[in-house]
Amino acid sequence: MGKKSYFNPVDLKVDFPAVENELLASWNKNGIVKKYLSHNKNSKKYFSFIDGPITANNPMGVHHAWGRTYKDLWQRYKNMQGFRQRFQNGFDCQGLWVEVEVEKELGFKNKKDIEVFGVDKFVELCRDRVKKYSGIQTEQSKRLGYFMDWDNSYFTLSNDNNYMIWHFLKVCNDLGWIYKGDDAVAWCPRCETAISQHEMLTEDYKELTHQSVFLAFPVTGQENEYLLVWTTTPWTIPANIAIALDADLDYVLIEVDGKKYWVAKGAKERIFAGVKVHEIKSTKGSKLVGIRYSGAFDDLPAVKAVAGTKNDKFHTVVATDDMILPITVEEGTGMVHVAVSSGAEDFKLGKKIGLPMIPVITDDASYLRNLGFLSGQNAKKHPELIIDYLKKLDEDGKHFFYKVENYTHRYPACWRCKTELVWKVTDEWYISMDTPARKIKQEKSISELKNWDDDEEVEKPLQDTRTLRERMKEVAGNINWIPLFGLDREMDWLTNMHDWLISKKNRYWGLALPIWECTKCGNFEVIGSEEELKEKAVAGYKEFKGKTPHKPQIDGIKIKCSKCGNIISRIEPVGNPWLDAGIVPFSTISENNKACGFTPSKTKPLYLKDKDEWQKWFPGDFITESFPGQFKNWFYALIAMSTVLVNTNPFKTVLGFGTLTGEDGRPMHKSWGNSIEFNEGADKIGADVMRWMYARQNPADNLPFGYKVADEVRRKFHIKLWNVYNFFVTYATLDGWKPGFHKRPGKQGNILDKWILVRFDQTLKEVTESLDRFDATDASGSIEKFVDDFSLWYIRRSRDRVGPAKESEQDSNAFYSVTYYVLTNLCKILAPFTPFMADTMYVNLTHEKSVHLADWPETPDVKSIDLELTLEMEKLREVVESAHAKRKELAIPVRQPLNGLQVTGFKLKTNGLEKLVLDELNIKNVVFKEGKGEIEVKLDTKITSELVEEAEVRDLIRKIQDERKNMGLNLTQSVDVWVEKIPESKKLVNWMTKKAQIKSLKEGEFRVVKSS
Ligand SMILES: [Zn+2]
Ligand SMILES: [Zn+2]
Repeated sequence: MGKKSYFNPVDLKVDFPAVENELLASWNKNGIVKKYLSHNKNSKKYFSFIDGPITANNPMGVHHAWGRTYKDLWQRYKNMQGFRQRFQNGFDCQGLWVEVEVEKELGFKNKKDIEVFGVDKFVELCRDRVKKYSGIQTEQSKRLGYFMDWDNSYFTLSNDNNYMIWHFLKVCNDLGWIYKGDDAVAWCPRCETAISQHEMLTEDYKELTHQSVFLAFPVTGQENEYLLVWTTTPWTIPANIAIALDADLDYVLIEVDGKKYWVAKGAKERIFAGVKVHEIKSTKGSKLVGIRYSGAFDDLPAVKAVAGTKNDKFHTVVATDDMILPITVEEGTGMVHVAVSSGAEDFKLGKKIGLPMIPVITDDASYLRNLGFLSGQNAKKHPELIIDYLKKLDEDGKHFFYKVENYTHRYPACWRCKTELVWKVTDEWYISMDTPARKIKQEKSISELKNWDDDEEVEKPLQDTRTLRERMKEVAGNINWIPLFGLDREMDWLTNMHDWLISKKNRYWGLALPIWECTKCGNFEVIGSEEELKEKAVAGYKEFKGKTPHKPQIDGIKIKCSKCGNIISRIEPVGNPWLDAGIVPFSTISENNKACGFTPSKTKPLYLKDKDEWQKWFPGDFITESFPGQFKNWFYALIAMSTVLVNTNPFKTVLGFGTLTGEDGRPMHKSWGNSIEFNEGADKIGADVMRWMYARQNPADNLPFGYKVADEVRRKFHIKLWNVYNFFVTYATLDGWKPGFHKRPGKQGNILDKWILVRFDQTLKEVTESLDRFDATDASGSIEKFVDDFSLWYIRRSRDRVGPAKESEQDSNAFYSVTYYVLTNLCKILAPFTPFMADTMYVNLTHEKSVHLADWPETPDVKSIDLELTLEMEKLREVVESAHAKRKELAIPVRQPLNGLQVTGFKLKTNGLEKLVLDELNIKNVVFKEGKGEIEVKLDTKITSELVEEAEVRDLIRKIQDERKNMGLNLTQSVDVWVEKIPESKKLVNWMTKKAQIKSLKEGEFRVVKSS
């Protein structure tokens, strides 16, 4: 073709992932990302997105790409609309998750290994791991096409972040909400630390089978009379204090083989199924309260010690409190083993009615040293110790053991190391949810001082004494939750959660809780900043200076107890990791977006330095995260911390989304072969196809993800659009068409052009409105529908308007300008969704630098008359579909022209539409008739000899075009053709000659030759 064409040719066998990798390189080389990030740096409009930090602990999975697609999508959209943004990514750096991985790497079994290795070295390795994986995740995110200010990500390990949490905790303490309390908490024996209620995720409950035991406790002073008790945790039996029953239930004394057992009447049949029993008597539970009994482990020193305290409830039957420990007859015996030290409800009941306690396990769940033969053995790993011992007592004639049964239940495991949890009484630090706020002496803010008038009496605002729970519920209600059920879930959690357990004992890599405790007088001090620490330090600050506030260096600092003057140390635990992520709206919004990372930055967070500037970004406009777990975790922590500090919502809208599963709907697991690693996914599927899968998904549902689904999405959307693009570029090049000014084409002579422009306007409006309400599903749905219309109707019906067979130059030019307009604008609205494909097409079409520097098209005013046209076209396409179906039914192929079609129930109003029906259906005449009800079509099936000849000519044309393709000739190359018989109709011959670019037509054996 000699002269260079305007458009680069399109590769029909496009390899999307390869194109994406090339484009990534060129975006960086040409500074597109930089230009994109600073596009609106002086804008007055702000859009504040707050990133939920990704745990920098492993490479990214495809499930991470779902949220990251949303994050990128809305930031791109707002960028195109001229909003100033921060583009700040976050990495979550501290906590058990990192520790456990480093322990694994080092082959450590328990915390002693860490101590031996050295805490400082261990902490350094945790930090290194975060550095390594944050780097890997950054590269992976870039591969997804995620445009962020990657050089300025925030890290929760930073000084800014840790000290801001200190500030938060100090305010909590000022309000009277920090306390140290004893409680039976969920505990991981491997990590040797408490697992807070926040961390007990549904997915960490596993269906497990444990051995449950029916125990007989001999009633004091009665021969062969026992209280029958059932437990699923035999290891807790040495901790038994009392037996609880329901005072209002009926209990019966049953005789079996000469032994008598007390059980709830309602449980009798189940327990003694198949056993010959005799009921001796029946009584209300209340009558049994106060009965004393003896236990199987009464000889152990720890048990003896408690017995010696002469607590009158020790080893007696007590009435339960329904609100704490409800008793049913559905399982067990209706009599419940109460081990105050080893169960959450047991502990509460004990506290309520004044029961003593026998602690039985250490931090790694070994039996304590005053437990005789059990001491030093691991309670959780060896339940048989207890069961075998009970059986042996029985053999020796001391009856304690009735039977063992396997029991399957949902049992929780550590969210990090998957070890089964135990319950253990321990003193931990909490933020109270239900304590009324203490009055704080409030300093006047600068703005208040300015308006302050000495002469007037200033009315002091009423002190807010509401509890944290009350405040948080109000704040949560001001947030826009998507999906809406998010609000219910958050409220449910806020209604039912206990106090926030913020301490983690025996751990190393985490927030150093800024609490210094006096062992002499019990006072504790909460330090709120680095400056305060420096001011209050009486020892160790010199060594600490310049280091980060982490273990072990932080623990060298001593301060003076403000009550008694004693020199005091920091408490041992680190903090709950959700404190780290919840504080980010306060700690990471910084001048020029230079948040503090691994090294301290020179600037302070705007919240501390310039509140007015900070408030431009706070509350955040938008956050998005996968919701399982986050109602208890990130969403909770954000709301809690913002409520405490500024008593308002930290973000305006949250978009929650479901869980990514394998294609088979099961959770992704390497061992099940349905898991896809991110890099592999990106290489095989391509980022744009992945992104489209996420965007179109209903966020409320789980997303089945895999190669089959991806192929289908690619075929139905990306390839379809790519083919349209290819058609346009191929013919525009062939016809030598070039774009002029990029403006909207004027009056349309062709109804198809008019229609597709209206459809585009409509789509643009829908997409804009959907994105404005954070609905990517509807937005991508509108685009998909448009691409269908564009490809399957507009282009399909326009094929004859271009190329050598076109009817008029004017009409083909109209087609090109309209298609060009639609394609380039479609690229713009696709840019946030599929940044690679959109940019590839856009740059080739426009010769501009990048679609990512373009503005969002203005939302059009779609007129009702235009909407009528789209509705009419929809109906018309229904007619066409019915007629096609009729043809199929009658086995008359489309290439066989027919004389007539009669349509009942639909009349065309708009000029030009009739031709579309005739051409599409290959019919000579169509008659529309009024009618009621459904549209009906009737074909005139009489096939005359002329119609037969026309069908044959169509066949011939197709054969010639196939030959042309085989010979590698382009569409304008004319050919000489030989056919067995030249058709009689002159009209048909002329048509064929034009359509197939035939220079000479002769009779002979079928043959196509390139004309000279
Ligand atoms: Zn664990
Ligand atoms: Zn003191």
